[in-house]
Amino acid sequence: MAARRAYNTTAYRYPRERLILALTLLLVLLIIALTATATLCGSLLVVVVMVVYAYARNRSHHRALMERARPVTEQSAPVLAAIAAESVARLQVNQVQVFIAPGNSLNAYTFGLVSPKVVVLHSSLLQVLDADELRFVLGHELGHVRLGHTWLNSLVGGMAGMPSPSMASVVLALAFLWWNRACEYSADRAGLLACGKPHKAISALVKLAAGTGALTRTGLERALRHIEAEDDHALSTFENGHSDGALAGLSESLSTHPMTVRRIEQLRRYASTDGYRHLQSLMTRNAEA
Ligand SMILES: [Zn+2]
Repeated sequence: MAARRAYNTTAYRYPRERLILALTLLLVLLIIALTATATLCGSLLVVVVMVVYAYARNRSHHRALMERARPVTEQSAPVLAAIAAESVARLQVNQVQVFIAPGNSLNAYTFGLVSPKVVVLHSSLLQVLDADELRFVLGHELGHVRLGHTWLNSLVGGMAGMPSPSMASVVLALAFLWWNRACEYSADRAGLLACGKPHKAISALVKLAAGTGALTRTGLERALRHIEAEDDHALSTFENGHSDGALAGLSESLSTHPMTVRRIEQLRRYASTDGYRHLQSLMTRNAEA
């Protein structure tokens, strides 16, 4: 019987098998890399298109708004001009122009991609708000400018309106609205720092929500109670799992602005912080210097 000899048990492997495997793996990696690059480039292209679209849409919208607006100057509106100069100094906002536009809705807004940024107040605000409340509303808009919300909004504001069926765009749109609401809280703080009186910041918000119904003292108090009661209702029903509260939560998450009651609550909370008191005294000292 012959002795057993060791031999290579895989010696029959087709000579190019390993080479072909290596090439196949390389090809797979290449395809993954190419697909990812294409997706990335495609995504970047979509973002660029969205930004250009938002910019163009905002521009034409703002041009239409500005057609009837007139600048606030010491000659045209001395009281408002003084309030504006004071708020600009307190919040240290660079290069901003304030305008008044005829309009019945109690509205103020700001826009601009490049300086000077523009703040527009609807003329009806001047009839409804007193000087301190105007300081709050103007300060709120100046806060948007100072914190960079203005140009960010000019760029990305149109994204939420982009028609797209994908789930990702819904998530993006909700995220932007979430960011929008956070910006509102920040701007409210700027408004409070501009006016320096928490109860005036709150009455301004109540008047913006309730309109001319909040012009008298009793009307204002009634409107505030109504706003606060709405929240109690929403919260209690929400905790009970009732649909009303859930609906209130849902409608807020689809909105650019938080509910008035939450804005008031946030203002009260901020007004009681050391951070607010510190900034407030620094701003007052600077304004007097
Ligand atoms: Zn705002």
